[in-house]
Amino acid sequence: MLHMIAVTRTGTVRRRGEENGLGGEVAGTTAGRGPGATWRRLRVLERATRPVDPLIAAALDRRWDGLPEHVKTPAQLVGRRTTGCEGTHGVFPQCDFTCKPCYHSKDANRVAIDGPHTIREVERQMAHLESERGPSAYAQLIGGEVSLLHPDDHAATIETMRRHGRVPMSFTHGDIDAEYLERLTIKPDGTRRFDFLSFAAHFDMTMFGRRGLEKPTCERELNPARQRFVEMFDRLRRDHGVRSYLAHNMTVTPTNLDQVAEVVRECRFMGFRMFSFQPAAFVGNETRWTADYRAMSDDDVWAEVERGVGVRLPYKAVQFGDFRCNRVVWGVWVGERFVPVLDDDVPADLRARDLFLHAFRGNFLFVRRPVMTTRVVRTVLRHPRLVPVGLAWARRFVRRGGGILAFRKPLRPMTFVMHSFIDAADVAPAWEALQRGETLSDERLKATQERLAACVYSMAHPDTGQIVPACVQHSLLDPLENVQLVELLPRSPRSRARLADATRA
Ligand code: SF4
Repeated sequence: MLHMIAVTRTGTVRRRGEENGLGGEVAGTTAGRGPGATWRRLRVLERATRPVDPLIAAALDRRWDGLPEHVKTPAQLVGRRTTGCEGTHGVFPQCDFTCKPCYHSKDANRVAIDGPHTIREVERQMAHLESERGPSAYAQLIGGEVSLLHPDDHAATIETMRRHGRVPMSFTHGDIDAEYLERLTIKPDGTRRFDFLSFAAHFDMTMFGRRGLEKPTCERELNPARQRFVEMFDRLRRDHGVRSYLAHNMTVTPTNLDQVAEVVRECRFMGFRMFSFQPAAFVGNETRWTADYRAMSDDDVWAEVERGVGVRLPYKAVQFGDFRCNRVVWGVWVGERFVPVLDDDVPADLRARDLFLHAFRGNFLFVRRPVMTTRVVRTVLRHPRLVPVGLAWARRFVRRGGGILAFRKPLRPMTFVMHSFIDAADVAPAWEALQRGETLSDERLKATQERLAACVYSMAHPDTGQIVPACVQHSLLDPLENVQLVELLPRSPRSRARLADATRA
């Protein structure tokens, strides 16, 4: 659940009707000449460049109304800037690693990879999310290991997600080859299939099975693999002009906690734009739980991230759902110094945030640049106070960065995220009671209910019409879903042949 927070990403989605950069409908529905046609064209143009798309505004309102009161704070992004993040499930559960812990259920690896199934199910899930959560969102292409999909199927799945206005991020263990990426992005005739790709790669020493490093004994051993991963995307850009946004994912357990700071220090300039940390939880395959994950707290993990960054990371300036689930800080490396965009200890920064969230609803990154620029201009004209407030914020930001001369050093935008899944043992009773409309009195379960109600990482069930928290998916629904998938897509060749025979009969 990391790229849900990546609102600084530079990828744009070509939404239906925006093919000409200022709304395809401008050309498509207003053909003709004369004052009538011109007037119609202007009206369509006006609508396409409104500060917030009416469909997005409606989706944001629905989302805000559905949030529990305890997270409706001035810092909350959900229901204002975004409707949250989304993920796929049950579309390619298999993985060729044996990580400990692993959030997938025991049967996940008995399910065959099947491209048509993936594309079909992703289509259904994204269509449901589009109808419920609005025309645009960040969405994770996630399940098992995405690179087990044939590159053509992987590409078709990305295209499917984009057709539904989603910005997909493919989740991988990172042990992939340049040839795979090339086949994913470049068509057989040598032309680009995508201008931009988004990947999250998981690297940490709880993962087993990486080629050449089956059982890492420390985080540092993984640095060459981290570097190699980023370099493949550098090459893609150099050779084919394909840009990318790369996130680095890391599960944190009591075993590698004291290595987090070193990972940040040594990998911060490799080329990842986001570092996301997941404190381990008791979720998924219980045969892979190896330590007492409760021996460390979220604060312990965050403190180690801060130690690596070298400054306090003021995560309370913006809120994504519930702080007990998510922490996020955007900032820029100014040379060797990390400068957060907002400081939660500076009242003027918080006032600037409030104005920004009030003025800029929705996420402009989902539209093409001319539309985005026009929307920004119209927003500023509507809220002229943005100019002095923005300038004052910029002055503070430059001062925090060490003064204007410091900004001659390389500038690297970066996001730090922590996402803390909830233990399955808590999710089950909390969710079941929520479904019955009951609030539990046990402190831990009550907290779990609050977090689930404020969840920002959603998975769609078009059959039941539900959208559920990823915690519920992994803790409660995955096991049964994977048993059903084993029936549908058995992995062993013999059982597949039996199924084919049965289907023919
Ligand atoms: S409820 Fe679970 S999936 Fe949802 S935001 Fe919290 S930790 Fe993430």
